This record gives sequence, C-alpha cells and structure tokens, in this order.
Amino acid sequence: MSRETCYRCFWPKPLCWCPSITPMETRTRFVFLMHPKEFKQEKAATGRLTHLCLKHSEIHMGVSFDEHEEVQALIHDPCNLAVLLYPGEHARNLSNGDLRADELGRSTLVVFLLDATWACARKMLRLSPSLQSLPRIMFTPSAPSRYVIKQQPQDGCLSTLEATHELLLAMDHSGLDHYELPEQLLGLFARMQDFQIKCASDPARAGYRRHAYSMPAQRAAPHGRSGDRRSRFFRTSENQPKPSSSTSNTSVEPGGIAPGYPAAP
Ligand SMILES: [Zn+2]
Repeated sequence: MSRETCYRCFWPKPLCWCPSITPMETRTRFVFLMHPKEFKQEKAATGRLTHLCLKHSEIHMGVSFDEHEEVQALIHDPCNLAVLLYPGEHARNLSNGDLRADELGRSTLVVFLLDATWACARKMLRLSPSLQSLPRIMFTPSAPSRYVIKQQPQDGCLSTLEATHELLLAMDHSGLDHYELPEQLLGLFARMQDFQIKCASDPARAGYRRHAYSMPAQRAAPHGRSGDRRSRFFRTSENQPKPSSSTSNTSVEPGGIAPGYPAAP
C-alpha cells in the first residue's frame, strides 16, 4: 500500500476519508485544541476527522494557548460567546437546557474542545489561564462510548468524535444549533473502527493482534493509575475525577451511569 498520506485527514492516501465527508453547516464555531501527543497516536485521532465534518471549525495543536493569536482573538472577540467543553460541578449542562438560545442573542457561540487524554487536558488547562477562565459547558451522554479499538477506562469516557456528536445532539435539542447530519460522525467512527479491527485480525499486517478486540460492554474496568492517565476527559458528571484529588487517587472509580444513560446491552 502507498505510504503517501492525505494531509487533510492524515490517513494513507488509499484510505483517505475526505471524499466520504460532507462538512456540516453549524451556527456554532468549534475549536479543537489538540495536544501534540494526540496527533502522534493515530488510533485516537478522531479530533481531526470531527473537524473535517464541521464546516465552521478549526483545529490548533499545542499545550499552552495563552500566546496563541487565533485562539486569543476568538476568546476576546466581543461578537463571540466563548465557552469550554469541560464537565464539572459548575459547567452548564446543555442537555438540561442550562444555556438557552435567547441568552446567546446575536453572539456566535464558540466552543473550545480539548482533544487530549484527561491528564493532558488538565495540563493544557493549567498552562492556559485564558481557557481556565472561560465559562464551561457539558452534556449528559445519550449512549456509552462505542470505542472498540481503544479501551476506554470507564463508562462515560468518550472519544472527541463521540463527544462532539453528543454535544451537537444537546445543542439541537436546546435550540442552540441545528444538527444537520446526525448520522455522519458515528458512521465515520464505525467505518474507521471496522477498518482497524480488520487490520488487527490480519496476521500479514503490522497492527495484528492475537486476541480480538472485545466489545465495550464485555470489558472489565481497568485498575490503577494507568487507567486514569489514559482516560479521555469527556465524562459524565457522576464519574468526573476532581482535578485536586486525581494525583493522589490510586484507583479508578467504577463508571457511574448518568440519568437517562441507557444500560449496556
Ligand atoms: Zn483525506
């Protein structure tokens, strides 16, 4: 297979996703802030594909964004209402209608999303006080993670693609935006995983795994700190780790089920 890479989706050219993607119109502007580690981990790179699905989005790589001109211009533009997708006690839950379209007025809602593991996202935030001071938003997921190729350490941890899908569902529901193609993101995610599972079952390929991937619902929760380090930070409010305690916490709490969260099949 050709080793040439598509520089839009960063997949090998024969597998390029770009022709199958229809960029969606949104009123909201989405800004993906990608940790450099995320860029290197091909399996986890759902942030870039998500960005390609959204016409009104951009992606910036870095760890600290306080000196980042484009990011700072978006935060300080008086025509914008800039918010950070970051679950927690003080975050406005869009699934509960905590942010209404009439509050937005004529402003453009600009949502910053940290495309990183929990540990990296926390570091990005620590090094970017301007992001820390943004109002926070969250959502209540309508489904557990569909990740097969990468074990999510506990229920409620979502990939960047799934988190954006859930956010768009909540925004559509609350009248903040219109979710034009609700099947596209998850369809892309399923096809991407199908391909990677196929690669993993082919002994001739580099990514071959002797043991098949287990479905998310059949997995035991991992234990120890490594689970916390690997975990995505998009979580339900119930199992959100407290930033102050996570460094001393040596075990991963069992995944909580948020209200309205369907039971695993
Ligand atoms: Zn491509």
